[in-house]
Amino acid sequence: MILKLNQVGQPILRYKSKKVDLNEIKSFKTKEFINFMASTLRDAPGVGLAAPQIGLSKQIIILEDKSKYLEIIPKEIIKKQKRKPFSLKVLFNPTLEVINSKMDSWFEGCLSVDGYVAVVDRYSKVKIIAFDAKGEKVSLIAEGWMARILQHEIDHLNGNLFIDKMHSRSFMTVKYFNQYWRKKNDSEIKANYI
Ligand code: ZN
Repeated sequence: MILKLNQVGQPILRYKSKKVDLNEIKSFKTKEFINFMASTLRDAPGVGLAAPQIGLSKQIIILEDKSKYLEIIPKEIIKKQKRKPFSLKVLFNPTLEVINSKMDSWFEGCLSVDGYVAVVDRYSKVKIIAFDAKGEKVSLIAEGWMARILQHEIDHLNGNLFIDKMHSRSFMTVKYFNQYWRKKNDSEIKANYI
C-alpha cells in the first residue's frame, strides 16, 4: 500500500518521534508498516523516508539508493558526492555520531517539501547505531551521499526539516534545479550559495 506523504505544515513533521519498543520491532504490525514505507518510498521515488512523513511519530527510517536514480546525474558529480547504490536499509531508534566533521554542500530535497530543493551542508562521514528489522543492534559507518540521507532522515525524527538548515538563497523549485544546477559541481554551488 502506498501511503500519503505528509507535507511541511502538518504538525507531526515537527514532533520528536518516540523510540520503538524492542518487542514491537518484530511484530506483524511493524513489518507491515515497513512494507508500506518501502512501497511509498519507491513510488515517490525517493532515497529515504522517516515514519513521521507517513503519519507515525516513531523512530523508524528507511533508505535505499538505486542505480537507475543515478542515470540522470553526470558521473563526475556522482563520484564527488560519493554516491553509490545500496539496497533497502531499515533502522529503528538510530543515533548518530560524527566521524568526520568536514561538511559537504549539495542540493537536497524532501518528499515532505514536495517540488523544492536547496543547498544543505552535511557531515561527510557519520556512524549510526540502531536496531535492524530483526531487532538486532547494528552499527553503520557511512560517508558521502549515504551519510547525507542518514542525517536528513534522523533530522525528521527530531522534528527538523532541511529547510531549517538550508542556505536560504539556494531554495528553488526542482524545475529550475534541473534546468540550471543538476550538472554543476560543488565548487560552482559553493561559489554561488555558500
Ligand atoms: Zn525528508
